[in-house]
Amino acid sequence: MAENEHVPHVRVAVIGSGFGGLGAAVRLRREGVTDFVVLERASGVGGTWRDNSYPGCACDVPSHLYSFSFAPNPEWPRTFSGQEHIRAYLEHVTDVFGLRPHLRLDSEVKMMSWDPARLHWAIETSSGPLTADVVVSATGPLSDPKIPDVPGLDGFPGRIFHSARWDHDYDLRGKRVAMIGTGASAIQIVPEIQPVVGRLTLFQRTPPWVMPRVDREISPLERRLHRALPFTTQLRRGFLWGIRELQVQAFTKHPDELGLVERMARRNMARAVKDPALRAKLTPDYRIGCKRILLSNTYYPALTRPNVEVVASGLTEVRGSTLVAADGTETEADVIVFGTGFHVTDMPIADRVVGAGGRTLARAWGGGMKALRGATAAGFPNWMSIIGPNTGLGNSSMILMIESQLNYMADYLRQLDVLGGRVALDARPGAVDDWNHKVQERMKRTVWNTGGCTSWYLDASGRNTTIWPGTTTEFRTATRRVDLAEYEVVRAPGATAGPGESTTGTRTEARA
Ligand SMILES: Cc1cc2nc3c(=O)[nH]c(=O)nc-3n(C[C@H](O)[C@H](O)[C@H](O)COP(=O)(O)OP(=O)(O)OC[C@H]3O[C@@H](n4cnc5c(N)ncnc54)[C@H](O)[C@@H]3O)c2cc1C
Repeated sequence: MAENEHVPHVRVAVIGSGFGGLGAAVRLRREGVTDFVVLERASGVGGTWRDNSYPGCACDVPSHLYSFSFAPNPEWPRTFSGQEHIRAYLEHVTDVFGLRPHLRLDSEVKMMSWDPARLHWAIETSSGPLTADVVVSATGPLSDPKIPDVPGLDGFPGRIFHSARWDHDYDLRGKRVAMIGTGASAIQIVPEIQPVVGRLTLFQRTPPWVMPRVDREISPLERRLHRALPFTTQLRRGFLWGIRELQVQAFTKHPDELGLVERMARRNMARAVKDPALRAKLTPDYRIGCKRILLSNTYYPALTRPNVEVVASGLTEVRGSTLVAADGTETEADVIVFGTGFHVTDMPIADRVVGAGGRTLARAWGGGMKALRGATAAGFPNWMSIIGPNTGLGNSSMILMIESQLNYMADYLRQLDVLGGRVALDARPGAVDDWNHKVQERMKRTVWNTGGCTSWYLDASGRNTTIWPGTTTEFRTATRRVDLAEYEVVRAPGATAGPGESTTGTRTEARA
């Protein structure tokens, strides 16, 4: 780390210490880059798996696939891990790969601006400023909780919290609890709290499709085998990956094939819910897969318990301690738990990134998030995101996508080294548009766009800016290398162009 006018400078500033940020840190070290910091607003690492500590929080992707390929864990205790095990795994990765010296915890990035004269990012954090040649933004797609703007909420006399900021000091025993939302978090919370609360009212705008969760303990024998013969862990991972890879076509090209899965989900519900009126409330009217398919063996049984009521309507108003649903239903509550998701298509970090033209990324994305290969944006040189636009998955592990983006990051840094000296790469607007046009064309046939639902995958204008409409293999291929033809090379003012570049002021076009 170098000092300039008392402002520290690094080669790379990584933002966030979830799977994305920690994965980036490991990869940087492997590439021989040691001049970097990981800026994290919280006091510890773990991202999603630090923040989501609600009762029942667990992963929906099997552990051997939801982990880094370069850090296999033969000790996973269950096929689907709980939050505490995944968090412990990320702490372990941090230690084993020697990442602690790079961490700057309690450092929230408040603003970062591109300095075209010095070719670096000037970053303001809650723990002081720094500058960096390259920014790797891994702030997470599901990191900033979203609480809907419900009239009267401010006047609610009880306790209010979001699933991702669980209030462990609040004792739910015997309380009248209103759970808002029926997404992935809510369906894990409901069966956990139902036995202890006095009354549980579930506000459901749209019912989810729920499939059985085939979760079991990984036996001591299996774990011994994985320890003794590490390739068996890889085989297991490969199998889990392969079956999900084969499912992708149904989501992206042939949503009708999902009818069979829909029938299985209906049977799953019918087994647990005998009351036809409740079944009717819980039956979705859109194609399975359009929203994330949820996995639970305990959600439907919990809804049949006498202390639970499902209000098949969204929360529209709060009058004192009375919660009013869109259908007029009124419910008294002591506590409101919001399982209402995150700022996904309006990611807050975009307001804090000011690019070459003095515009924020949020303004540049005014018509919807878009990035070249899910990573870079035109006018934001040497800035890239991990899990950027259209890199999400509907059916597999996000760690696969993160690792592909780390390949891209590593090649990006190599290309900067090859170009030599003080240079930056800026995605060409045409390349960004081409990439996004192709993504959106492919999106037209997918279940996420044709399945008849609205979901957090879509932005305010109905455009799907979150999901990758292909296999993870396709994404890996697309991010293996940086294609220099898709970038302009930016040099410091007065610098001369390198071989193979044509100069346009300080901006040059690389010829691949
Ligand atoms: C409850 C839940 C269950 C999930 N289950 C699955 C699953 O089953 N399968 C799956 O593939 N994915 C799942 N996900 C998605 C999950 O978010 C990703 O798989 C992955 O963990 C994202 O990692 P990340 O590092 O990109 O983001 P995160 O883990 O969200 O980490 C982002 C980090 O950036 C930090 N940060 C944000 N803004 C700033 C700032 N301005 N300054 C400094 N630091 C900042 C945050 O504090 C956080 O530590 C789930 C998400 C949630 C919320």
